[in-house]
Order: sequence, then structure tokens, then C-alpha cells
Amino acid sequence: MANTANNDGTVYLVGAGPGDLGLVTLRAKECIENADVLVYDHLANPDMLGWARDNAEIIYAGKQPGESRTQQEINALLIDKAREGKIVVRLKGGDPFVFGRGAEEAQEIANAGIPFEIVPGVTSAIAGPAYAGIPLTHRAHNSHVTFFTGHEDPAKTESAIDYAALAKLGGTQVMLMGMERLGAVTGEMLKHGVRGDLPVALVCRATTGQQETLTGTVSDIAQKALAKGFEPPAVAVFGGVVSLRGNLNWYEKRPLLGKRIVVTRTRKQASVLSNKLRALGAHVIELPTIRLEAPSNLREFAELVQDAHGYDWIVFTSVNGVEAFFDIFFKLYDDAREIGGVRIAAIGPATAQRVKDFHLHVDLQPEEFVAEAVVREFKKQGSMENERILVVHAEKARDVLPKELSVAGAIVDEAFAYRTVPEARDTSGARRQLAEHGADLITFTSSSTVENFLALGLPWPKGMRIASIGPITSKTVRDQGLIVDIEARRHDIDGLVQAIRELFAR
Ligand code: SAH
Repeated sequence: MANTANNDGTVYLVGAGPGDLGLVTLRAKECIENADVLVYDHLANPDMLGWARDNAEIIYAGKQPGESRTQQEINALLIDKAREGKIVVRLKGGDPFVFGRGAEEAQEIANAGIPFEIVPGVTSAIAGPAYAGIPLTHRAHNSHVTFFTGHEDPAKTESAIDYAALAKLGGTQVMLMGMERLGAVTGEMLKHGVRGDLPVALVCRATTGQQETLTGTVSDIAQKALAKGFEPPAVAVFGGVVSLRGNLNWYEKRPLLGKRIVVTRTRKQASVLSNKLRALGAHVIELPTIRLEAPSNLREFAELVQDAHGYDWIVFTSVNGVEAFFDIFFKLYDDAREIGGVRIAAIGPATAQRVKDFHLHVDLQPEEFVAEAVVREFKKQGSMENERILVVHAEKARDVLPKELSVAGAIVDEAFAYRTVPEARDTSGARRQLAEHGADLITFTSSSTVENFLALGLPWPKGMRIASIGPITSKTVRDQGLIVDIEARRHDIDGLVQAIRELFAR
């Protein structure tokens, strides 16, 4: 996606999908990764901003009442940034050309003579019904589908929607926008001869962990929506196919649906846990509390990496440590054999897996990250007397492990592979979300996530419970005067997810 054309910027009008990150296209992801400037509105899932480069300029274009930039301002912004020669990605919820004024933005950009590309997205008009278990077509029910908007240009004096024609047309009809006009819309439908018992479904915040569906008929849906306090964004589906939801409703049956779960890790690491929780239906609030940075003494670390082959053992305590180590290692050497005959210990399955990813054998894999247990495992391999061990871990990591290994007779060096610093930014608005809407549960995957979360000084949301990955993390939680509601039996991400399922199943 290099910008070859004489330094001209380009605007990518990108469909961000309906909410579920898994429904974003590969092309959209590629655009986000390459963007110099990202402009997004409230319907685009902000979690995807995490794919952007660290130095990308991220601009929220509002579009919620009260906080919106005007459409002219947005158009001007896209054009100005492109004229500076930048790759501008305009993220729009769903598909950029299905309502929501994407077409107007494209016209402005075209009129300004700026190169552009349209990246279609999965529209909420399709995804909403699908996630509610409503097939838009079924041979026995209909042979055509209509998309219409319930919210029209306020400047129009007469409705552009020909309700008489809609009524006559039948089939499946999907309405976007205009939830607040639902009563008027269904009133028009009835007036024009649509049968009062025609099934209707409203799918709210479709494809997210907060999806809710309300079903009724043309006669009663507006009343029901009002009573339930149903709010936009929602799509409304009119038609016989709505009745098929009975046994096709799949998404809303997920075990963690609607649960608001905070994931506190660095952005890069968060995705594995977040994705697993999302797959179970949870609404994940990714709250990066820390960021990984190079260790304060990178030179010293590099020297230890260079000399790693001189040790009897290297001990990796985390995935980050493995990555930082091999990052340097392969800068220094272009042959994996330079690691020599050193044996490798990796604590925890994820750490071991990361070592194996580099095609190296893991000689010792203590499951438990408790120093005594690790030392016990080592002793099973033979005497520790004068064994030279390099422990690769984070700066300021607890030094229990090196100490215990020394006590057992080993000669231990510590290699500080990285350091964690507080994440001060809130690009995805996660902190704001947490403050405004709270959460059901927070996950802690290490002591530092506990400390770093508390260091942010955010008020504790009412009723937010705590899930911890293991005993050390739990101890840190308790030391802070908090209560651990559930602790994983297996101290890894899968174990944590299992524990969370059990907690909510109680
Ligand atoms: N281009 C978007 C639509 C923009 S208009 C698309 O293709 O989806 C905004 C309307 O889209 C909202 O009022 C609502 O009707 C619908 N919408 C967008 N995202 C939605 C979601 N996750 N759940 C339900 N409706 C959604």
C-alpha cells in the first residue's frame, strides 16, 4: 500500500463492520495498519484502533448528538490530511456505502481530486439479522429484501419513503436508523395495509457483547420498544422470516453474553484473552495499563544474550521475555545454532510455546510459577551445584526465582529483557467506558497488571469482581485489600477463561 503517486495522499473509505472485530475484512485491517491518519465515528468498534501504528494520528469524528463535528468539517479534514500526502483511513460502521453519509464523503473526496478507495464492510443490515438468528431470505417466506432508512434528511418536507409501495412489496424489510420514529413508521405501514401481526424484530447493538433482540409485531413493537427503553443503534427486521429465530437464535445463547469484562494487558497481548472472551459473547473492555519498553540497560541485556551459549540453562519466565531475547539474538546472529548446547527452561505453557515457535526444544517446563516448585523441577534433572543459569525476565521482576536457584547452588545471572511502563493513553476510550458504564469483572494476568491497574487510580466500578490467573497474582490482589472472586486452576489464558465461565455459571 505504498503511496507511489507523486506523494499524493489517498483516502480509504473503509467499512468497519457492525461491531464484532471478527467481521472486519482483511483489507480493512491492512488499511488500519498502514494509516497515517485514522478518522472514526462512534459506530466503528474502537478496539480496532489498536491495530494502528503507534505514531498514527487518531481522530474521533463524533456523530453522536452533542459531540459531532459537522459533516463539512469531516470532509475538510479528510481532504486536508490527504493533501498533506498522508494515508487517510476513514472508518465507518458497517459498510461505507450503506446509509451513514459515506457516499457524500466519497463525492467530496472525488470532487477534490484526491485518490480514494472504497473498502466494503459487513453492514449491520445483514449482520444484525444474522446474529439474531433471522435469515433475511427463506424460500418459503420471501424472494426479496428491502433496506430502508427510518431517519430521513430533516430538510425533506415529505417522506421519501413510499409506504404504500413498501406495504405492497412485502418480502423482508430491514430498517436502519430512525428507532425514535418507530411508532410513526409502523403507523404508516398499518395505514397502508401491512398486516398487524407481521413479525418484527429489533436487534440492538448487534454483533457486540451487548446485543439484545426484541420481537413483536407491527402493531405492538413500538410500544414494546418504548416500555423496554430500547435504544439505538438498532436494526429493525419486518417479515415472516423473523419467526425462524425460534431455533436459529445462536449468538444470544453464548455463556458470557452481556457480561462486561475488563482485560488489563498490553495491547498486543490482550488480543488472545479478549478474543476468547468475545467468542463466548462477552463485551470486552480492553484496558491497556502497561506498555512494554526496552530495558533501561539494553546494552547489558544484549551482552547477556550474546553470551547465552556459555550458560548451562536459560530460564524464560514470560512470553515477553522470550520475544525480547530472540529479537536481540537474531540481530546478533543469523544462525540459530549460536545458542549452543544451553538447555532451556520455560515457565508456563504459553512461554514454552513461544520458545517452540523459534524451533527450539524446551528441556524443562515447570507448570507452576512458584519459585520453590521450579527449583524442585530443576533438582529432578540432577545437581544444581555450580550450574550456570541465565534467568530472562522483566526489570523489577520479583527476584525469588534467582534467589532460590542460588540457594540450591547454582550461579545465576539475571537478564532484564524489558520493562513495563504505565500506559497513559486512552485511544480506544476504554477508560471513559469503564467510568461511565462499569463492568462485571476484571481479569488480572500478573501481579504487575494488578499494580498497574491500581496505579491508574480509576474509581472501582460498583460490583466489579476479580478473576486472577494464579496464586501469585491473587496474593498481590489481596495485599492491595481486594478480594479474588475466582482464581484459575491452570495458570494460563485458557485456565483463566475456564474459571470465568465457572464464575458466571454459578
Ligand atoms: N453504514 C452502516 C449504517 C450507518 S447508519 C452499516 O452499514 O451498518 C446507522 C444505523 O446503522 C444505526 O442507526 C442502526 O440502525 C444501524 N447500525 C449500525 N451498527 C449497528 C449495530 N451494531 N447494531 C444495530 N444496528 C446498527
